[in-house]
Amino acid sequence: MLPFALQKAGSVEEAVTAGAAGWRYIAGGTTLVDLMREEVERPDRLIDINALPMNDIRVEGGDLVIGALARMADVAAHPEVRRLQPIIAESLIEGASPQLRNMASMGGNLLQRVRCPYFRMLDAACNKRTPGSGCSALDGLNAGHAIFGTSEYCVATHPSDVAVALVALDATMRVRGPEGERSFPIEQLFRLPGDTPHLEHTLRPGELILELRIPNGAYSRRARYLKVRDRASYEFALVSVAAALSIEGDVIREARLAAGGVATRPWRLRDCEAALIGRQATRQTFEETARLATQGARPLQHNHYKVELLPRTIVRALEMAGEVA
Ligand SMILES: Cc1cc2nc3c(=O)[nH]c(=O)nc-3n(C[C@H](O)[C@H](O)[C@H](O)COP(=O)(O)OP(=O)(O)OC[C@H]3O[C@@H](n4cnc5c(N)ncnc54)[C@H](O)[C@@H]3O)c2cc1C
Ligand code: SF4
Repeated sequence: MLPFALQKAGSVEEAVTAGAAGWRYIAGGTTLVDLMREEVERPDRLIDINALPMNDIRVEGGDLVIGALARMADVAAHPEVRRLQPIIAESLIEGASPQLRNMASMGGNLLQRVRCPYFRMLDAACNKRTPGSGCSALDGLNAGHAIFGTSEYCVATHPSDVAVALVALDATMRVRGPEGERSFPIEQLFRLPGDTPHLEHTLRPGELILELRIPNGAYSRRARYLKVRDRASYEFALVSVAAALSIEGDVIREARLAAGGVATRPWRLRDCEAALIGRQATRQTFEETARLATQGARPLQHNHYKVELLPRTIVRALEMAGEVA
């Protein structure tokens, strides 16, 4: 690991000032330190934000508010999270390992880097790591890569599980930067790779994530997260689906759907949502609407199976959400 300076932030203002001057935030360090050890990331100045008051979990005006420093394990176990937004707990428990979840923060989870193997191989071409060097995954081992939102510059999937649930639920985030605070939908945090895959998010220089806000809907307590992967735990998603339904009688009134493991950012499935509204919550409805999800898919040589797996996962996730509805 290359040498670096480390400083503890005593206040949000101090952290933002340092962030704007080029210091890199460190929370749980479960991703950043890993990448620094492998010299994939080479920050020379780190500002530790763990002492900042950003780890509370509360209910405000019916919305669930989660501090960016709240640990994945604490969020997953919190009674208000389990009561109001059980899908958040479910998607967190499906991610990483118990040890990692104890260390890892919500803000860090959203800003974790991709799991493409070439990104971590310093001798492989990777536009995300070294802009302009090429993409080894395009003609390489790409079974785990994306079928949506890709470009000729990068085809890596976004790895966060909880981000999929947050995007499905229209969650927002509040950030503080050198010019003050702003809030925006979490969906807008994630950039498509285009011809600049090294730019992954829309935070401005020095902006610190303060908290996440999840609005409460009739569908919130009737939401499920289904993650399909190569082994039952401690593994990233091949395909995952966050599904939330509001059902009156047997008619679907509201639907929220997003997918993970298939796209370069958490992928909202708005066509499927629209097609579900007003229809009966039956397997036939789920199967017909799930087919819409793969329109525009661009599979690579080794990941055609995702075009089949995605609609099947959607159907099962909708059935699970329907069961609790
Ligand atoms: C082996 C392994 C398996 C994993 N499996 C999964 C999985 O299945 N699903 C899943 O979702 N995740 C998985 N993860 C990822 C894990 O969830 C993340 O490593 C973790 O959430 C990152 O949080 P952190 O606090 O440790 O972030 P850090 O490593 O401290 O930071 C990560 C990035 O976020 C930035 N950052 C942190 N906090 C803030 C903030 N408040 N404002 C602005 N920037 C900030 C840092 O500057 C850094 O760039 C896995 C990780 C490992 C190592
Ligand atoms: S898919 Fe993206 S992260 Fe992977 S090698 Fe290509 S450019 Fe790098």
